[in-house]
Order: sequence, then C-alpha cells, then structure tokens
Amino acid sequence: MAHQWRGVIREYADRLPVTEATKVITLGEGGTPLVHAQKLSELTGSTVYLKVEGMNPTGSFKDRGMTMAMTAAVEAGAKAVVCASTGNTSASAAAYATAAGLKCAVLVPEGKISMGKLSQAIAHGATLLQVDGNFDNCLDIARKLGDSYPVFLVNSVNPARIQGQKTGAFEIVDALGDAPDIHVLPVGNAGNISAYWKGYKEYSAPFESATAGTLPAVSTKTPAMWGFQAAGAAPFVAGHPITEPDTIATAIRIGNPASWDTAIAARDESGGFIEAVTDEEILDAHRWLSAKEGVFVEPGSAAGVAGLIKKHAAGEVPTGKTIVITVTGHGLKDPQWALRTEDGSEVQPVKVPNDVVTVASELGLEEN
Ligand SMILES: *Cc1c(COP(=O)(O)O)cnc(C)c1O
Repeated sequence: MAHQWRGVIREYADRLPVTEATKVITLGEGGTPLVHAQKLSELTGSTVYLKVEGMNPTGSFKDRGMTMAMTAAVEAGAKAVVCASTGNTSASAAAYATAAGLKCAVLVPEGKISMGKLSQAIAHGATLLQVDGNFDNCLDIARKLGDSYPVFLVNSVNPARIQGQKTGAFEIVDALGDAPDIHVLPVGNAGNISAYWKGYKEYSAPFESATAGTLPAVSTKTPAMWGFQAAGAAPFVAGHPITEPDTIATAIRIGNPASWDTAIAARDESGGFIEAVTDEEILDAHRWLSAKEGVFVEPGSAAGVAGLIKKHAAGEVPTGKTIVITVTGHGLKDPQWALRTEDGSEVQPVKVPNDVVTVASELGLEEN
C-alpha cells in the first residue's frame, strides 16, 4: 500500500492542537534520520546517535514548528506573517508562507547572516529587512508588529512553534523504543530545548488527547537535557541576558532568549545543565562531524557535539548510556567553514592536467 510520510502534524495529530478539519500547511517536515555516530560512540563508551535535522525541507529543525505556526496563521485568517531570524527561521517561514499562500516579512540582524539562509528567504519571495541591531532587537520589533499590526508572529514565542518542535522527541522515542538517557542540543533562543523537554514529558505519561481520548505512556523515562551555548552568547551560563552576544555560530547568537523560563525548567526538572563551548570547540566539533561521522552541519549545530566532547574530556560523560544529540541545521547553509583549514587559510583544490598518469600519481596510486 502506498504510504508517504505526511509531515509532523498528520503523523502526530492526536498529540497536537489540531482536528480532522484543520487545513494543514506542510512541506513533509520531520521523519529525519537518527544516525548512529560511530566515532562519538567509540570515544565516549556510550551509544551516541545524531538526530539529523538538516534533512528537513528547508534544512533545519525550524520546519517542525513552522508547519504548526503557519497552519495556525491560516486558521486565524492571517494574510501576512512576520518573524525575526538569525537565518533559519526566515528560510522556513518564507517557504511555509509560500505553501500557505501568505505574505512573509522577515527581520534579520545586521551582518553575519549566512548566504544560504538569505538566499532561501529571497528565493521564496519574502520581504527581507535587515535591521540595524541584533537578533534580540529584531524579535522586539517583530513582537510589536504582531501585537499592533495585521501580521501574524511566527517566532517561537508563538506556542504553536513549540508544539510542532516537540515532535522531534517523539520521533526519537519511536525509533529507539524508549527515551535516551541523555539528550544534548545547542541552545540559542531556547525554544528547542523547551520543546524537546515538553515532548519527552508528554511521551512518558498518559496523555489527554483532544481528539483521541487518553493515550498511554510511550516511554518509561525522560532524559537529562544537556544544553550548550556559545561562550560569547551564553546568557543561561551568566544567569542574565547578554547585550552584545558574539559568536561565529550565528544560529545561536542570541543574548536574551525568549523561552527563558521553560528552558530553565527543562534543565532543572530533567536533572541536566546548560553550559558553554568556545567558537574553537564548535569548529572542532563541526570538523569532527563531517570528517569522522559523515554528517555535514552548520557551525551552530555542532555546539551539542562540542559540548559532549568537552564533557568527555573532563571525565563527565557516563559510559554504557544512550545519548542523542540534535544536530540542528544543514552544513550547506553556511559552507564557508568547511573551506577553512585549522590554521584559518582557505582550502584550494589541487590543479592537475587532463591526464590519467598525473592524476594517478597525484593520488599516490601505482598502476597494477
Ligand atoms: C534556531 C537554531 C538553533 C537554536 O535553537 P533555539 O530553539 O533558538 O534554542 C540552533 N541551531 C540552528 C541551526 C538553528 O536554526
């Protein structure tokens, strides 16, 4: 029988605030691979998996929330949506607005937005405004537009986004048969750590479905949530907002996280923590993922892996456990980092003549 993955709303409809009658806006998001990370497993002595969210339709986990937010926008009769974005939210909002037939305005901070993400927003026809300020300033304006003008806010302060993003946790439990012991992920605006924790909690207890009665618990436990911020943008580590966040990991360059309280709750209720990794550690982990695991991510996505490697070096990663790391966005979003060597110089391809003998010799091959 023909069956295609239907996107996270239809796949998890009985656990989301939708009904049979809801007009679902989807691009087939979710259903992303849970890849066994061989080298990280060898390193740590635990079984480590990567939840590869770069495989979503626009190349980041933002699509899980955007299908819900855009569905809610259409349900509310909106004609236009707005978001503030470090890049991936705008790429996702622009694509899903196109699918919904809505206008989309995106506010991006000045400088440091990757080419890949900008080109997506433009390709999908969004109106893109670069605000003379940082992400936090953009979000402030977007919220005020949503409050006082006829546009629908699709940032993760919209609870529909968190509802959609919690499906990442469902997929992991469905794939493994139970929750992992530890879940590791990057933390920026902190919507995702909040959403995963919500998903894990809902799957570990009976759930009152709006459409399907009481659903039984799916998992026997919940994981400890280990969040990692970039050291130059680590308000949870500082314990207060940071006014001038700075990191090469643009996706998590956020000084005043919108989901502050829910992220603190996820950290504390789960018995986890939120710590920081340096840009150097992030780039090392970025290289590790592509060179040792075969998974290409954008720098911000590597923060969780950087954190696990750092914790392992400190002797703080238990062995024999199941660990899942969300790698949040695709490497093609921000490919320039792959073309840099460890000393910072540009990688250039070796030029060879159109001749098999020279090519073989350049490859160190001898004729057999
Ligand atoms: C948005 C984003 C993050 C940060 O997620 P939050 O929910 O803001 O904490 C991390 N990595 C990538 C690639 C992102 O797009």
